Parts: sequence; structure tokens; C-alpha cells
Amino acid sequence: MRGGILSRDPLARLVGELSRLPGIGTKTATRLAHHLLRVPRSEAEALSSSILEVKDRLFHCSTCNAITAVDPCRFCADPERDRRSICVVEEPFNIAPIERTGEYRGLYHVLLGALSPQRGIGPDQLAIDSLMARLAGIDEVILATNPNVEGEATALYLARLLKPRGLKVTRLAFGMPVGGDIEYTDEVTLGRSLAGRREL
Ligand SMILES: [Zn+2]
Repeated sequence: MRGGILSRDPLARLVGELSRLPGIGTKTATRLAHHLLRVPRSEAEALSSSILEVKDRLFHCSTCNAITAVDPCRFCADPERDRRSICVVEEPFNIAPIERTGEYRGLYHVLLGALSPQRGIGPDQLAIDSLMARLAGIDEVILATNPNVEGEATALYLARLLKPRGLKVTRLAFGMPVGGDIEYTDEVTLGRSLAGRREL
């Protein structure tokens, strides 16, 4: 479609761009595009400039891979946080739901994915070396990967690496639906999963 006849039609182009977003089908993209057509220019500008701002200003923390505008990020830099525990998550957006539970005050480490033989993602594609380099002074590593096949495989792989280092390695006690995502788990359930985490 790109460069084709439709790209000359601004509305079709917007629908095309929106439908590339995850979870947005053509129907929703069309509805959003028509909505944007109706809103004041200032509202459309606020949306487009906020998209560009996250692209221009945000990056991954050089220590934990969280999304940040300063390096190190606010979690790594906060002297109030418990520096004896690291909570390992798959994606940067998994941190916010864990923070909202109020059950955790330690550090984070974002793997930037999960093991997936089907998609050709092995340990080398994940931020595992940088996790192993952060273990000095750490007592507990909480494996908060998603409760699906890939997240479980990743947790088991990491547990095998971490246990011989003499660390306490724990996994969330999922009362969460198996096959689910941390991102879609309500904070009460996630908070209970954290509080009841079990040792691997
Ligand atoms: Zn950080």
C-alpha cells in the first residue's frame, strides 16, 4: 500500500498507520482516524507531538533497561529502594503494574523479551548477561516473567543460572490466569502473587 495510490489519500494513510499499531484492526483504525479528523487541531497536535517526544526523549536505562528520560532511571537512582532484591520482568511496561501493587520496593531488571524457540529468541537475545553482572549484594531475584509458556521457560532458565550463585530465587505465586500477561492482571491479584511468591 505504501507509495501506492492510497498513500495519496491522507485519511487512508492515517488509517494505514493506525492499523499498524498492536491490537488495532482496520475497523478501529478507521474509527480513530475519523475521530481525529473531527477533533480540534490542538488536540491532534498534542497527540502527534507526544508520540515524537517519547521517540526523541526516552531510552532504555543503561543498568536495568527500564524506559527513562534520565540515566540511570528513577528506580536505579532511588536511594530509598531496597538494593538487595531485583525483580526480573520481560518488558519495560511490566514495571508499572508491579509498582501499583505497592508490594515491592526493590530494583528491577528488564529482559527485553522472553525465550521463544518458535520465534528464534534465545538467551543471547535477552538482557541476561547484564542481569548476571548486577548480582553483587543481591539477596533475592524475583522472576516476574509472564505466566505463559515463554515466560515459564524463561523463569526456569534463569533459575538454573541463578540458583548456583547462592541467591534466593522466587517466582510469583500466580493466582493469575495461566497463559495470561502481567500487564492485564489487576493489581490486587498481582499484589497477592508478589506477597505469596514461592522459592524455586
Ligand atoms: Zn534503571
